[in-house]
Amino acid sequence: MICLSELDNRLSIEKSDPGRRGVMVKNPLKAKASLPQALLRKAAPRLPELSEFDVVRHFTRLSRLNFSLDTHFYPLGSCTMKYNPRFNEEAAALEGFAGLHPLAHDSSAQGTLELLHDLSARLCELCGMDAITLQPAAGAHSEFTGLLTAKAYFEAKRETRTEIIVPDSAHGTNPATASMMGFATVGINSGPDGKVNLYDLKKHLNSRTAVLMLTVPNTLGIFETNIEEICRLAHAAGALVYMDGANFNAMIGMIKPGELGVDIMHLNTHKTFSTPHGGGGPGAGAIAVKKALAPFLPVPLVKKEGAGYASDFGDKRSIGKVKAFFGNTGVLVRAYAYLLAHSAAEFGEIARCAIINANYVRTLLKDIYPSYSAEYCMHECVLTPGADLAAKGLKTLDVAKRLLDLGFHAPTIYFPLIVHEAIMIEPTETESRETLDEFVAAMRAVHAEGLADPQKLKDAPHNMPVKRLDEVQAARQPNLHW
Ligand SMILES: *Cc1c(COP(=O)(O)O)cnc(C)c1O
Repeated sequence: MICLSELDNRLSIEKSDPGRRGVMVKNPLKAKASLPQALLRKAAPRLPELSEFDVVRHFTRLSRLNFSLDTHFYPLGSCTMKYNPRFNEEAAALEGFAGLHPLAHDSSAQGTLELLHDLSARLCELCGMDAITLQPAAGAHSEFTGLLTAKAYFEAKRETRTEIIVPDSAHGTNPATASMMGFATVGINSGPDGKVNLYDLKKHLNSRTAVLMLTVPNTLGIFETNIEEICRLAHAAGALVYMDGANFNAMIGMIKPGELGVDIMHLNTHKTFSTPHGGGGPGAGAIAVKKALAPFLPVPLVKKEGAGYASDFGDKRSIGKVKAFFGNTGVLVRAYAYLLAHSAAEFGEIARCAIINANYVRTLLKDIYPSYSAEYCMHECVLTPGADLAAKGLKTLDVAKRLLDLGFHAPTIYFPLIVHEAIMIEPTETESRETLDEFVAAMRAVHAEGLADPQKLKDAPHNMPVKRLDEVQAARQPNLHW
């Protein structure tokens, strides 16, 4: 049954009833008398006048118009939406962590320092790296920090290197970071298999190359099987290899990038090691490096001192600070809780589940949604609507919009850019087979319906509070008023 208030699409200001109040201020005149006259408003603010109950119903209704991970499957993957264990929230809320003053002296922050020290050691071990900073606020900020570190490394060696090589299958933040740092970005093309084209790489590597930035797995969900050869070629040119490891859940416990030749890599602790971060934050990145780059990392780090722990401000080779204090420690507490909840053997299991789930979906859909690559994928698969849907004039957007009606958040669409009409699906390691079966059934139902009644897809969504938007008009003439 639909409750009447669910159909009430009025804004809170439209529901306003003059004189209705949520909170009664005791003695408002007395409060008014105590304020300087010059600061008093001439006219009352135009605020909705509602009871507390009206407000609760209003916002609860709004919250239910949204898809959320607690109500729906999100094929967007760890990039925003894998399941985050509730236990981690409890750990982060512990008074000793949440209530610690950022300026507290080391001696009264021993618990947090120990946590950061141990977390650093565990992450270094998983990555096969020698040193790590937990200061960056997120993935893109980590890339920035990693390139600053690389720049300082070359400056110390008195080498001038001006170029960053970025394959076309890299995450979009990689070329953006390189340009922001003032480097020239040199693009290289993927081969037909979706991997770095070694011939093209060799052609572009030279004494100007500072860093090769590799996204692994790349945005096609494919593992660079030639990564050792790629690292060898880069090193032979005197360049460093940066690995964007934002999606480390695809290889955690199975591969240590440091052992393959990677010099600098970032982790998105808010993806791989949990923390809800949909809508832009908060996050916590980490830059793990080989020994030669360690002196240049941002400070403070944490070192062991006597029986306890202390802030380590390094020396003047450090690039300084990239974020206040130790970074977003609340997120790091969650990452630590997540790490402690899994044994070493279970890390490999996380990666295997992420990979199996993506390949399960890909295999059950590839007869009607052709897969970009013939190979097995890692944690995500890239599909496209088949020629039969295209012949009906249907596009990826139509499929995505119709999925909403069937109770599934749309996957990432039109990304990666190198795949025409891309549909990228990342189920993550935390979804059950039943959920994936339901999702596959919905994708198949949309396909069948598209062939039988294409208009139904073109007009979708039908059951959502907001119907198909005119995206061009929304971009050119946004309605910012009510
Ligand atoms: C999410 C992601 C990033 C950016 O991370 P943010 O925390 O959103 O800044 C970079 N690279 C890859 C491969 C990603 O998936």
